[in-house]
Amino acid sequence: MRNNREGLLIVISGPSGVGKGTVCKCLLENNKNFKVSVSATTREPRKDEIEGVNYFFKTKEEFEKMIKNNEFLEYVDVFGMNYYGTPRAYVEEELRAGNDIILEIDVQGAMRVKETFPDAVTVFIAPPSMSTLKSRLIGRGTESQEAVEKRFAQAFEELKYITKYDYVVINSVLLKAVSDVESIIKAEHLRVFRNTDITNKILGGNE
Ligand code: ADP
Ligand code: 5GP
Repeated sequence: MRNNREGLLIVISGPSGVGKGTVCKCLLENNKNFKVSVSATTREPRKDEIEGVNYFFKTKEEFEKMIKNNEFLEYVDVFGMNYYGTPRAYVEEELRAGNDIILEIDVQGAMRVKETFPDAVTVFIAPPSMSTLKSRLIGRGTESQEAVEKRFAQAFEELKYITKYDYVVINSVLLKAVSDVESIIKAEHLRVFRNTDITNKILGGNE
């Protein structure tokens, strides 16, 4: 039996530089009850990134050991250069505790999560235009020119997955995009199949 106090697994994807991290940060600031899964990665930390907040930074050997120990819900080799993965334990604990948990992961990882958790809600954050995407990638100033080009080329591949997602949100005006994701989460909590305790009571005439 289900009720709307149960947590949702929300998967957020979109091309690099579209604003996923920025949107997620705002979602967490606005909604103290949301949790975010911190991924593990073998990529180098950016200058303002904090261990355990943005990522758990691992060596290739450490990451591969975690794979062997089945510690990941999903993992991928993004951009053919670095591993990224979602540690399984935290997500499973939060879901059991009934908390909404957000995964900010790439399209391949999202498809894997959806296979394991068919009730997961998938949201694709899209840019208002490809030129805006490129300006944001460059404007963030975290990648070399070569890495920007690689990420931008990859964006076209990722955009092909849009139709596999439940929702698409255009990140043009940040606060509008944040509010769109909040609306999705609110509506998903009200889905009839997530509220069978209430509907069964009504149908049973017990109220
Ligand atoms: P991602 O996590 O998808 O790679 P980021 O959240 O790092 O992207 O955002 C990339 C850059 O775009 C950052 O410099 C961020 O401040 C900027 N940005 C994000 N959303 C918007 C928006 N709606 N309008 C303008 N700039 C944005
Ligand atoms: P960045 O290097 O910009 O932080 O992230 C690069 C890409 O890796 C983004 O598309 C991001 O969503 C994705 N990513 C981050 N963590 C994970 C993860 O745990 N699993 C998967 N599949 N992708 C991830």
